[in-house]
Order: sequence, then C-alpha cells, then structure tokens
Amino acid sequence: MYTMRPAEFEYHQPTSLDEAISLLGSDEEARPLAGGHSLLPMMKLRLAMPTALVDLSRIPGLDEISASNGGLKVGALTTHSALAGSEVAIGIAPVLPETAGRIGDRQVRNCGTVGGSVAHADPGADYPTVLKALGGTITATGKDGEREIGADDFFRGIFETALDPGELVTSVKVPGTSGAAYLKHRHPASGYTIVGVAAVVTAEGGNCTAARLTIGGVTSPPVHATAAAESLVGGPGSEEAIAAAAGKVAEAIPHAMGDAYASGEYRTHLAKVLAARALTEAFERAA
Ligand code: FAD
Repeated sequence: MYTMRPAEFEYHQPTSLDEAISLLGSDEEARPLAGGHSLLPMMKLRLAMPTALVDLSRIPGLDEISASNGGLKVGALTTHSALAGSEVAIGIAPVLPETAGRIGDRQVRNCGTVGGSVAHADPGADYPTVLKALGGTITATGKDGEREIGADDFFRGIFETALDPGELVTSVKVPGTSGAAYLKHRHPASGYTIVGVAAVVTAEGGNCTAARLTIGGVTSPPVHATAAAESLVGGPGSEEAIAAAAGKVAEAIPHAMGDAYASGEYRTHLAKVLAARALTEAFERAA
C-alpha cells in the first residue's frame, strides 16, 4: 500500500569516518545519509528500503572547501549553498559554485550536498556534467582506504557510479579553471535539469588551444561532444565557428532520453542551443 511512510530502519550517527565505514561494512543494506533530499523521498515511496541509515552529518571535516595543488577540493558534506557562496571556490573554479547556486530551490540548496548528489548520479543532476567537463575527480573512501576516480569513469549511468558497496564519497576535486560556463534548461516545477551543457575553453593570444563540451540530461551519464569542441581549437571562437560547432553536438548523442516533459528530439535541440550559448560565454571568460 502507498503510505508515504518509510519501512523501519535503524539510525546511526557516527562521529568519525572510520566508524561510518565500519557501520556500512557491517550491513550491506545500510545506506549513508547526507542531505536526505533524494534518499528520504525514495524511502517514503519505498523505492529504497535500507535496514539502517548512517548519518554523515556529525563527521568533522567533511564539509571543508580548500585550495589543493592549484585546484579546488570540496568536501562531500558541503551543501550546494555553502559551495555557491564560497570565496575560495569562486576564486579557483567559478563555474562550480555557479552551478551549485542554480540547483533546485533554496531549501534543496541548503540541505543537499555535493557528495550526496555525486553518489546519487541522478540523470537530472548538474555536477556530473560540470565535473566531467572540468576533468574533475571524485575521492572515495572505504575499508581499503582512499582512491581517486576520474569523473569520466565515476559516472556510469542512471543512478549508477563506480562506488563499491560500503564506500563513501569524501570529496571532489577540480583543476583551477576560468574559461568555463554551464547553462541549463530547468524543469519548471522541480528545478531539476532537463538539459545542461558545460563548456571549457583555454585560450592563448586570442586563439583557443583546448576546448571541452559536455552535455548532460540527454544521455546518462553525460557525454562529451568531442568533435564539436575540437572544431574550435586554433580559432578565436567566432560566432560562425561556434554555430558550426553546436551543429555537431547531435553527433555525440546517438540515443537521446525522452520523457513526458521533453522528448529526445527536443532535448537534442536544447543541447545544440545551450552549447552555442555556453561556448560563447566560455570564450568570453577565457579571453
Ligand atoms: P541524500 O538524499 O542524503 O543521498 C542520496 C544518495 O546518495 C543516497 O543513496 C545516499 O545513501 C547516497 N550518499 C549520500 N552521501 C553520500 C556519500 N558521501 N558517499 C556515498 N553515498 C552517499 N540536483 C541537481 O543537481 N540539480 C537540480 O536542479 C536539483 N533540483 C532538485 C529539486 C528538488 C525539488 C529536489 C528534492 C532535489 C533536487 N536536486 C537537484 C537534488 C539535490 O541536489 C540533492 O541534494 C541530491 O540529489 C542528493 O544530495 P543529498 O545530500 O540530499 O543526498
């Protein structure tokens, strides 16, 4: 019966990472709890029925944002609002806090966390697209220690990641990047992304030396539009060149997802439009 009440579960509130990992390792049906904005609705609908919740909120240090080897390190428990307002993040890789500031609504941003979003790998999430475009990495910690996984390898499909059972996301890292932009078309009710496009441009002497264009929401995981991005290398990013590059975006999307709100065809169209806009913004920033 549809009750909107979760099935029974135990509740743990560990105060160290080791304790959390040991609790998760002792019960394969236990799940970590971060902001709860995805997990709790799933539990109420009984789409998830964990035997125990391991609340990460009392583990110190997991919500830190810091500079790391010229790049940015964001702790898993960092909320979207904390990231959006972080001067450190804005100084090193502004596209990431900008992305955080456009997630859902204020309540979602105040509770939802970077680690929860990344681990959940919702096809309507924003960070996977931006992390892939920036060449970011995800740090996972489990009983065998810590490992760093490239965003391209981490995101595997709809709600599917490279995390092993019992492993926690502890941080994400991105290189310092100024020439990047992320644009999205939001669902008008939830704010979730229908299509999101991230563009990253490096330029020297007015000409592009490297470019990346990543499309989210049309496939899961997000996909790189490599031919489109590479067509811009060597040039100044003229309006014509950007329009031609956007015209190549569909080549990267052989099977577009569709649903009641947006068909695959419409999503592919949005991807092209947003790609042209994101590339234009990224070129302006790179200059
Ligand atoms: P939780 O709900 O606590 O956990 C989600 C899943 O991740 C669970 O399976 C949990 O066990 C696991 N988990 C949590 N933390 C970790 C960890 N550190 N390591 C390993 N596993 C972990 N997202 C967007 O990107 N863009 C949007 O526009 C957007 N709009 C939204 C609008 C609404 C109305 C709502 C409710 C959500 C929206 N979201 C959006 C999702 C939001 O960003 C959530 O914060 C995110 O999905 C999950 O983060 P959380 O901290 O709430 O995780």
